[in-house]
Formats: sequence, structure tokens, C-alpha cells
Amino acid sequence: MSSIKKTKKSNKDILQAPKGTRDIRDDFFYQLQGFYEKAQEVAVYYGFSGISTPIMEHTELFLKGLDADDDAVKEMYSLTTKGGDNLALRPEGTAPVMRSYIENGMGSLPQPIFLYYHGPYFRHEKPQKGRYRQLHQFGLEVIGSPKAVLDAIIIQTGYQILKESGREITVKLNTLGDPENRKEYVTELKKYYKKHIQELGAQDQKRLETNPLRILDSKDPQTIKVNHEAPTLISHLNAESKKHFKKVLEYLDAGEVPYELDHTLVRGLDYYTHTVFEYATVLDKGEGKPLALGGGGRYDGLAKAMGHNKDVPAVGLALGVDRVLEIAKKGAYSPKIQRKPKFYFIQLGFEAKAQAFGIIETLRERKIPIKHSLSKDGLAAQLANAEKLNIPYTLIFGQKEAIDKTVIVRNMETRKQDTIAIEDLRDYIKKLK
Ligand code: AMP
Repeated sequence: MSSIKKTKKSNKDILQAPKGTRDIRDDFFYQLQGFYEKAQEVAVYYGFSGISTPIMEHTELFLKGLDADDDAVKEMYSLTTKGGDNLALRPEGTAPVMRSYIENGMGSLPQPIFLYYHGPYFRHEKPQKGRYRQLHQFGLEVIGSPKAVLDAIIIQTGYQILKESGREITVKLNTLGDPENRKEYVTELKKYYKKHIQELGAQDQKRLETNPLRILDSKDPQTIKVNHEAPTLISHLNAESKKHFKKVLEYLDAGEVPYELDHTLVRGLDYYTHTVFEYATVLDKGEGKPLALGGGGRYDGLAKAMGHNKDVPAVGLALGVDRVLEIAKKGAYSPKIQRKPKFYFIQLGFEAKAQAFGIIETLRERKIPIKHSLSKDGLAAQLANAEKLNIPYTLIFGQKEAIDKTVIVRNMETRKQDTIAIEDLRDYIKKLK
């Protein structure tokens, strides 16, 4: 970076992760991994392939490719490199994936292209519940076709991934029509807001000139009241847009995806077309307000807005993984890799310690993960560790066992012990489960 300035942070500050970021460890590490595994599995079954783009892109990619009113743009982390380039930590995944589609000439492959991706994204937002500066998203994009069935398959795939959380999922849905359609609608909407300008919140009064559509999804209580009576785009749809939306609804009905129409769901820029949607969960009492778990839409004009020489029709979504994990039922997204080993390996004596690597490798080949404390010697110290970690069985490997090629399996609760030949260990352990 151009010049690195020292700040006056105390050692205490430096030894803390930056505000709004957190270490991925313990349960969260495995939940995140489990979510990605499950989401990827669903996506693959629905015909998607994986892609991973760089964490940084040219800042302009996002400035051109996103709505200036969007948090993702307003809160971008950008930096100037030593070479003078402006780069940004990616605030979202759609613009980079579209960039990759264009750069790699994916348009010459059979269309459309189904892609999924996941990882960390960065927004300099005010941290609060469900809002981080390093957030995690899982995204899907179908690029290269304007067909309504693809809007529906995106919504359906995201819905199925979220349903794995064990929670009830709702889909809010709206259409923005096509650009021509929207132009007429925005004119009408402006007329309506002008009549009610005094009743709008301060920020929304300004938006009337810059981005009137976004007033519809304002969180300002004053504006929300005005929005109740605002004209809806759905009642102004032209025949083409109506047909597209009707098809999306039919496909969702056929897939038994529950949805409700919400005319306040919008995206600001012209390149968004037709379908927009958002997922939420039905919360239990006392869980507060539902947070959006993800959302997406069709963005047929994005490629051109980003500087490509032609339109590339596309539709996609992003799921907010941090939030999904916050509402998921316990164990809903368990990863395949077993997190909590059931066995603690204890070695006693020089010979046993010398053979320990061989034993651990034999156990790995038999798919038996363990915890251990190879640096310790005494039985009591090792048993105490196993107890602290709440591991139900210990495998005790001493001098005699090292010679006999056996191991003692001890049930930590009942203290019952069996001596088992290492060869037979896997079968024995299977019976324990
Ligand atoms: P967006 O890319 O803004 O459409 O966001 C897609 C989803 O990502 C949202 O519905 C949220 O679930 C999630 N999300 C957005 N911003 C954050 C954040 N700062 N922290 C955690 N999750 C977020």
C-alpha cells in the first residue's frame, strides 16, 4: 500500500481482531464448513459448478456494477496499491463472477452457465447483531439466459439450502419489470412521492431525486407509512414482464416453494430486471425481528453496466451464511469430517511413544480420529486431559500393548476396559457407536 502509517494503538488493541471481524474457530469453524458442504452438495445436485474469484478486484468493477445506494458500495474497503491501482476487498460476489464470465469467454460455451461460490466478503458497516465487517456468503449465478425458469431454479436451490437449517423459510418476491416498464412506473412513483414529500424521512426526501425506487424499501417509519399507499409496479406491468413473472410463480408453485409477494422489495439500478426476492425465517417468540437470510434477482443489464459490449442476461442470489448459522437448529449443518473425536489416545512408556505415530496412522487408515497429548508421559495427566475434553473413550497403549499389537479401550464413564487387537479395532469401535 502506498505508505504504511503507524497508528497509536495499544498492545491490547493490536491483540484483538479488527472490529466487526472474528476468528473462525471452535463450533463456528465446523458449522461454516458444514454449511458450505451442504450448500455445495445441493447446488451440485441442481446442476451448478464451483468458482472462486480473488478477494480483491478493481474498485471500479463494483462502482459500475453495483447500486451506489447499496451498503455493499457505500461500505467498501478500498486501497491504492504501490503501483497506483485502486483495488477493493470484494463486498459481494455477483460483479466478480460476471467479470470472470466475461474475461474467460464463458459466453462461447453452451449457455447458460451455472455457478456457485462462497467465502468471506467485506463491508465497513457498523457491527451489530447479524452484521459483520467480514461476512460470509454463499452465492449462485445462472449466466447467459433470460428464461423465467432460471429465476425459479435459483430461488428453489437457495430455498432448499436454507431449509436444511431445520427452520421454516419464507420467500418474499417482487418484480421490477423490464427497463421500459420501470421508467413509466418510476415517473408515476415520483409523482406520488412529490405529493407526500413532507411526510417522507429526511434521507428519502433526497432519494426522490437520486433513486426514487429505493424509497420503497426504506426502513424509516415515516416513509413506511407513505409506502402503504404507493403505486405498485405489479399493477403497471407490461405484457412481456407479466408473462415472465407469471411463469416464475408457476414454476415456484410446481416446486412447492412457498412465497409471498412484497411490492416494497426493490433494487435501485436500471440493470435489475424482473424478479427480485429475499429469504427470511419465521422466528419463535422472543427472537426479535427476522433478519434477511439472503436475496437476489435478475440483472440482465449488469454486464453492460460493467463495461461489456453486450448485454448478458443473468440471475443470481447470495445467502448470508453468518445469519443462517445463527438461526439454524443445532447440528443442522454438521460437516462430514468428524469434529469431536470419540477417542483419546494415551501412550505409556518409551516403546509405546515410539510406535505412536504408526498407531495414529493405522487409526487414520481405519477412519478413527483421535485426540492425544503425545508430549505427556504419565497415565494420570493424560486421563485428566481426556476427561477435561469430555471424550467418552480412551485408547491406552502401553509397553505390553506395543509388543502384543493391541490397545486397551476404556469407557470413561463406566471405566470398563477391553483389550483389542489393533487389527480388530475398527470393527470393535463400530459396535460402540
Ligand atoms: P446483499 O449482498 O447485500 O444482497 O446481502 C445478501 C445477504 O448477505 C443478506 O441477506 C444478509 O443475510 C447477508 N449480509 C449482508 N450484509 C451483511 C453483514 N454486514 N453481515 C452479515 N451478513 C450480511
